[in-house]
Amino acid sequence: MQAGADEHVSIGQTAQTQFDKAAEAMELDDETRTLLSTPFREVRVEVPIRKDDGTLSVYTGYRVQFNGARGPFKGGIRYATDVDMDEVCGLAALMTWKTALVDIPFGGGKGGVNVDVHHLNIYEIERLTRKFISRISRLLGPYRDIPAPDMYTNAQTMAWIFDEISGRQGYSLAAVTGKPIALGGSEGREAATGRGVVYVFEELARLEGWDPSAMTAAVQGFGNVGTFAATFLTDIGVRVKAISDITGGYYNEKGIDIQAALAHRAEAGDLGGFPGGDLITNAELLELDVDVLVPAAMGGVVNRDNSDRVKARILLEAANAPLTSIGQCHLEERGVYIIPDILANAGGVTVSYFEWVQNIQQFSWDEERVNGELKKIMNLSSQKVHAAAKEKNVTLRTAAFTIAIERVAEAERLRGV
Ligand code: GLU
Repeated sequence: MQAGADEHVSIGQTAQTQFDKAAEAMELDDETRTLLSTPFREVRVEVPIRKDDGTLSVYTGYRVQFNGARGPFKGGIRYATDVDMDEVCGLAALMTWKTALVDIPFGGGKGGVNVDVHHLNIYEIERLTRKFISRISRLLGPYRDIPAPDMYTNAQTMAWIFDEISGRQGYSLAAVTGKPIALGGSEGREAATGRGVVYVFEELARLEGWDPSAMTAAVQGFGNVGTFAATFLTDIGVRVKAISDITGGYYNEKGIDIQAALAHRAEAGDLGGFPGGDLITNAELLELDVDVLVPAAMGGVVNRDNSDRVKARILLEAANAPLTSIGQCHLEERGVYIIPDILANAGGVTVSYFEWVQNIQQFSWDEERVNGELKKIMNLSSQKVHAAAKEKNVTLRTAAFTIAIERVAEAERLRGV
């Protein structure tokens, strides 16, 4: 993770601090606090693969099942070099609160392999995926634990996972979500996280009396979440002045032409050389004078080192845990309006839930239905968080955690130890 050099705050700690704040505000008893802070199961596996050049590489894979009181564990699998047990555990905790907040019948889990996929070709990534799944397959299944895409995994990865699980458990479409449409995936799943981000923003804008068509934004990250978030923000009239990927940031005062950026990336493979904006750095993008900053890539990008220089008045957390605890304190002191990740990016897992439902029913919904149902859930969740924040005089994040914790705590209490 990219936390500030002197801030050794991990995603695990960030998630725990956020939980503790809410637990404090709601005066949660100590027993429940301990129960809900402890992961149900943490698994670490060796993932050896033979590379195309004949050499052997050994990676480490993780799957954490954080809490399953409300349903099967649910959460993505990421391939990245910062993946470790702490990060996966923190992200699995966030999935627990996210699924509870939007009230879908899942618990929270997360997985990942510590690997730089840029050093592997597609065949090697397939072997890595199959080997990783073979080592954790006993934990997975439609009513046990259901993976999905996350950083550097996609519909193709999910298709391999489906194939591995089906080879062991029989044809199991509902065992994994985010699959290709041709293999039981849902219409609208690919765009769902970005679409949900913008539904939440629109609903909060309505409740706060903001006019999106008079607002500007900067979107960090041009992956699955960032591309769709930038597209849908533009659709509702927000002027997206900057976007970025690993090649840097691209700034255009008049607004970036997102379709042109997508076309450039389709051709060139990344945004490198994109002529539709002036080249800036990712760090500069985070400090731009815009209304809405949308971190849509990695964790910890707004931290102790740069949070004092963030000028945006709204932080829309499309990524998971983009803000460290110290970063959050700094932004809160300055009154920045923070729309928390477990609300803002819950659209992805919500449409994963729709995909699971369609797979179980052997029936598919059209995109209009998927988007309509998604909008209902995102709007209702936004309204609940907004109302709870007002009523209890707490931040949106603490309000969101409070709603989620109450639901998980009640399920735990009813099920008993
Ligand atoms: N990886 C996504 C997230 O962090 C989606 C998880 C899912 O669909 O299970 O929310």
